[in-house]
Amino acid sequence: MKKVPLHTRIFIGLFLGVVAGLILGPKARNIEFVGTIFIRLITMVVVPLVFFSLALGTASLGDIKKLGRVGLKTFLYFTLTTAIAITIGLSAANLLKPGTGLNEQVKQELLKNYQQAAQSKISLVQEKPSLISVLVNIVPANPVKAMAEGEMLQVIFLALIFGLCLSLIRPEKSKPILQLFEGINETVLQVVNLVMKFAPYGVLALLASIIGQFGLSILVTLLKYALVTILGLAFQALVIDGLLVRFLGRMKPGRFFKGISDAMLIAFSTSSSNATIPVALECLDELKVKKEYSSFVVPLGATINMDGTALYQGVAAVFIAQIYGIPLSLAAQATIVLMAILASVGTAGVPGAGMIMLAMVLKQIGVPLEGVALILGVDRLLDMCRTTVNMIGNMAASVIIHRSEEKSTAGQV
Ligand code: ASP
Repeated sequence: MKKVPLHTRIFIGLFLGVVAGLILGPKARNIEFVGTIFIRLITMVVVPLVFFSLALGTASLGDIKKLGRVGLKTFLYFTLTTAIAITIGLSAANLLKPGTGLNEQVKQELLKNYQQAAQSKISLVQEKPSLISVLVNIVPANPVKAMAEGEMLQVIFLALIFGLCLSLIRPEKSKPILQLFEGINETVLQVVNLVMKFAPYGVLALLASIIGQFGLSILVTLLKYALVTILGLAFQALVIDGLLVRFLGRMKPGRFFKGISDAMLIAFSTSSSNATIPVALECLDELKVKKEYSSFVVPLGATINMDGTALYQGVAAVFIAQIYGIPLSLAAQATIVLMAILASVGTAGVPGAGMIMLAMVLKQIGVPLEGVALILGVDRLLDMCRTTVNMIGNMAASVIIHRSEEKSTAGQV
């Protein structure tokens, strides 16, 4: 097994997980804890990894102007790609009309069966946060609390300030700190390597328990909706991200996708952008994307840039409206674009978060919130797919930001 590359082993784990889930059915739940341990292990390194690698990257950048420029570019790129993603979602749903053909009886059954689960999601919907409060919340009042609670934007802010100030103090003072940080960073990366050896088993257990609990009949009922979403997601990842990496990042898409395959598999099986951050950083390192860009773009993107989630919200909103027979005007669709961009900022990179934000989108366009019950049955499967696309988008962004800042292309440096 030693010589088999890791991504192949993870893939085998994924495949065996599906088989085990089909054979064991709901009993597969008994091995879920193996997957949970894996997710906890990989999540354990997220905060230290983001803090130390970003602080180091910023310190080596040491240029506030460059920092501002990279920040602005990243932000514009994120907004643009999210807008493209949601437009693809809306177009696919308008063209392929997944909501037609679902009869009244099935609708009532779905509403009844998933009512309770939907209510618990809806109860989590908060009022749309104001832009000001989002901005204020980026600044941590207490750095320890920010880290302890894994507030990613606050941790990023801390690392940026800390790294910048490290570059401003006298070298004899900063040198030992930089050396210490480098040592810690290396160690944390070593932890990631170690944990990833366990990935095939974790992935096997996760997939087995998801498939074991998944009703095949619900997938058949919602097949059209699931297929339209997956088609849209595949288009976003393979065509849009592929082209962007090719032309803006100057990297062959084949090389890109091969290089990030570990991260794609982990995103798919954990449904969590946050848990995928460490592996994504490793993959980008192998692709020779400089850490000063990847350690900024990836954690920030995992928190605020979710192309897959935005696309899914477009499809889901139109689907639910179609089932309720509510026509969506152009203005309503424009509201969806805006709301989904905001929602993608507000969605946490954890499983199922996109669903809660979807309820917020529905509220804005006057579609009954209970409608989320209609799609809950297949949400986990779609969550796996959209999380993968979320992280592909963030890794593509890193390649592109690297290319736009450096004269050389990633991989040639
Ligand atoms: N699970 C997704 C993520 O972590 C968020 C979502 O539910 O859409 O990226």
